[in-house]
Amino acid sequence: MNDLIQVSDRLQVFGNLESNVRSYCRSFPAKFKRASGHQLWDAEGRSYIDFFAGAGALNYGHNPPEMKKKLIKYLVEDGISHSLDMATEAKERFLTRFNDVILKPRGLNYKIMFPGPTGTNSVESALKLARKVTGRQTIMSFTNAFHGMTLGALAVTGNKFKRSGAGVPLNHTLSMPYDGYMGRDVNSIDYIESFLKDSGSGISLPAAVIVETLQGEGGINAASDEWLIGLANLCQTYGMLLIVDDVQMGCGRTGTFFSFEHCGIVPDLVCMSKSIGGYGLPMALTLMKPELDLWEPGEHNGTFRGNNLAFITAAAALDYWESQAFSHEIEEKAELVCNALVEIVASVPELKGEVKGKGLMQGIAFEAGIAEKISALAFERGLILETSGTDSEVIKIMPPLTIDRTGLVSGLQILKDCIFDIAVDVNLLVSHP
Ligand SMILES: *Cc1c(COP(=O)(O)O)cnc(C)c1O
Repeated sequence: MNDLIQVSDRLQVFGNLESNVRSYCRSFPAKFKRASGHQLWDAEGRSYIDFFAGAGALNYGHNPPEMKKKLIKYLVEDGISHSLDMATEAKERFLTRFNDVILKPRGLNYKIMFPGPTGTNSVESALKLARKVTGRQTIMSFTNAFHGMTLGALAVTGNKFKRSGAGVPLNHTLSMPYDGYMGRDVNSIDYIESFLKDSGSGISLPAAVIVETLQGEGGINAASDEWLIGLANLCQTYGMLLIVDDVQMGCGRTGTFFSFEHCGIVPDLVCMSKSIGGYGLPMALTLMKPELDLWEPGEHNGTFRGNNLAFITAAAALDYWESQAFSHEIEEKAELVCNALVEIVASVPELKGEVKGKGLMQGIAFEAGIAEKISALAFERGLILETSGTDSEVIKIMPPLTIDRTGLVSGLQILKDCIFDIAVDVNLLVSHP
């Protein structure tokens, strides 16, 4: 009771003045003040380990010093802050660096578009362009997909609760089973193709397919390489554009800069946001094959496309990708996380956990209700981690990619203790129903 009063006291201003729409502050009821690397501190001086990383917007950690230095220098020199889509030195540097460090070494040839600085805006621009280029209306998306909260992006999102917020029909889309949705033994690519090739299926050919290589919000479901390659082939055969939504899985979350690069597919369009700005600053990109760049000037506009502060930190963030070292580092940490999760699941068989994901986007799926309890208990003990999935059934581990071993091990230890304590509770319930 005392605790409850304290929490409501501490967050009174937010409860009184801010809309009910706020959500994360309900799972993590602290008032945060300061952050560095993988740690946050609240106004009372309590520290927290961050296994949430701004939902993937803080892959390089909080306030990374090398980016901060460049940002401060730029501010002090009165560098351009806002520029619509006018040419600036900061943007030129980002474009050049992105081409030199990311695109060229991967043999990728994309034109770069700056939509409004959010993931959903990148998705909207990709959907618009795909429809314009192909002259088709439908977009194919997948079960449990998440692509953003504006109407076009919501229309290709699976979650019923989020969809119903639209208040209007969400149409011109087609939801198909993601890899594994129909069970491990069913290849949903064959199932999808049966609709596309059959003139009696009642389905008109889609303009594009939008896909996440790993569904971060939808329950940490990873598509296999074979499935992604199959999907890319399907796109070729039926003249559909392939859009990879790399808003959350890009910038190294799964180990490589782009989440698709290891399996050799080359999407027609790529959506990026979240960590592309490097410092948690708003920024988004839509990459398109040059022949698709049929935009008229100003056809997808936006006031905040020229967030030059983000261009400064985004260019600096690319330093991480100069060599393979960062990818290797992520892989090593991913293995450490995976081993820890497998060990936890094995030691509490009564919770029937299933380890999911890859890179530094991993988690454990439980029966509904358990993951939320783990998240709440972990927060009390100084670890921030979110749930994922339509029923919040997965506990999600997504620390900054730059987290050090000590931080990772400490966070995993808290997680393990919480899961063990919750298992004790569950066992008590089972033995004393
Ligand atoms: C977060 C996210 C979005 C939406 O990004 P916003 O910046 O919140 O609009 C779109 N797609 C994926 C895969 C995401 O994770």
